Amino acid sequence: MSGRNMPVTSFSSVDNSLSSLKNCHSYISTGMDIATSVALDLLETGCESTDVNAMETVMLEYASMERDLNQYIHAVEKIVKKLKHEQAEHVPDLLGLVKEKYDALQRKNVEDDLKRSERFVKFKEQVRDMRQQIQQNQEGDEGYVNVDEDIAVTQSQLNFTCPITQLEMKNPVKNKVCGHTYDKDAIENMILARHQKKKKATCPKVGCGHTNMQISDLVPDITLKRAIEIHKQKSQR
Ligand SMILES: [Zn+2]
Repeated sequence: MSGRNMPVTSFSSVDNSLSSLKNCHSYISTGMDIATSVALDLLETGCESTDVNAMETVMLEYASMERDLNQYIHAVEKIVKKLKHEQAEHVPDLLGLVKEKYDALQRKNVEDDLKRSERFVKFKEQVRDMRQQIQQNQEGDEGYVNVDEDIAVTQSQLNFTCPITQLEMKNPVKNKVCGHTYDKDAIENMILARHQKKKKATCPKVGCGHTNMQISDLVPDITLKRAIEIHKQKSQR
């Protein structure tokens, strides 16, 4: 009678511990966000390889933590399910059973799995995109805006405005030919409308002599997008 109630009570405390363990996911996720953001900031300010590699190591450590957490939770859930099914008469050595299951899972782990984890792959992509963007900016005639210097803010506010909508850009794209930036939807609609009338599209930036714009010349301006986002965060503070 009372024996039947025992496991139920102990499992409910296990369930509670499990849900607080699951909360750890959000801490790991936040840590990954920060590491990514630091890596991109480092690249933007011109720090190369070693510092960015350090962030890559941090990302792998977080990925490893996440895997351990997932496997531990998985082990607990498996064991609890099994014990509930068996309706064990005595209170089992829960910790020992979980440890056994967890160790079995850990033995199958391969280091490369971490490098294939979703967040790590995303991190590598973002770093790669940022490097490409910086290279493009260095090759292009326009330098990119360094928003971390206060002096750049007033100067950059002008650059944040789309020459078509006169609003702060949400999705800036850069024209590879003349180097001007616009909000993606606005410029694409403009070019399409001109082309539908069988006319050439002229760059809307005052003073620009580019008279034959193509949608294929537009590339996402990731650096500027980030600059706008950082500027927005700063002004909200
Ligand atoms: Zn232009």
